[in-house]
Amino acid sequence: MKKGKIIILSGPSGSGKTTISNFLRSKISCLELSISCTTRKKRKHEIHGIDYYFLSRKNFFSKINKCQFLEWEEVYQKQFYGTLKSELHRIWKNNKIVLFDIDVKGGLNIKKQYPNHSYSIFLMVQSIDILKSRLIDRKDENMEKIKMRLKRVEYENNFSHLFDVIVSNNNLLETQKHMLILIKQFLY
Ligand code: 5GP
Repeated sequence: MKKGKIIILSGPSGSGKTTISNFLRSKISCLELSISCTTRKKRKHEIHGIDYYFLSRKNFFSKINKCQFLEWEEVYQKQFYGTLKSELHRIWKNNKIVLFDIDVKGGLNIKKQYPNHSYSIFLMVQSIDILKSRLIDRKDENMEKIKMRLKRVEYENNFSHLFDVIVSNNNLLETQKHMLILIKQFLY
């Protein structure tokens, strides 16, 4: 199989990865999101097979045992996330560029496996208070889960220097413009 290009978008929960990834895909038609597997509960607006493949833990572990994941992580306690090898192959086969919305360790893991094919971006938000209010505004999770996500931010920020570029997402429109330029430079 001919290997194509990979864009890795990582950063703490609430940094705006999903919004930015939707924007980039609306502007660059050859980008396709890799749909991850997760054992976390589906949110109201999410659709199986579009946002994630929502799996039972048993099913997730069976895929681990069959070596079907390119990478997987227990991102939060008892919440597993993983990238299927088949996703990467499916997207490359269609001559598209793979976009990963992925946690920091997963992103670095993929970068290590495909160093010459990938461009890795760490999306950063300067203030924990901004992240906190974004997570609260989403109304997806209770306070306990939000605290769990915030606790991980500092840990994830420690890995930021290992990415090809760090982008601060303090102003969404500015960030979108900046990201578009960076990605076009990588692609063309
Ligand atoms: P959420 O529950 O908010 O959808 O995602 C939580 C975190 O898991 C986010 O940082 C997201 O980027 C990350 N994530 C999503 N898919 C994967 C994956 O396949 N592998 C890894 N390692 N992290 C993922």
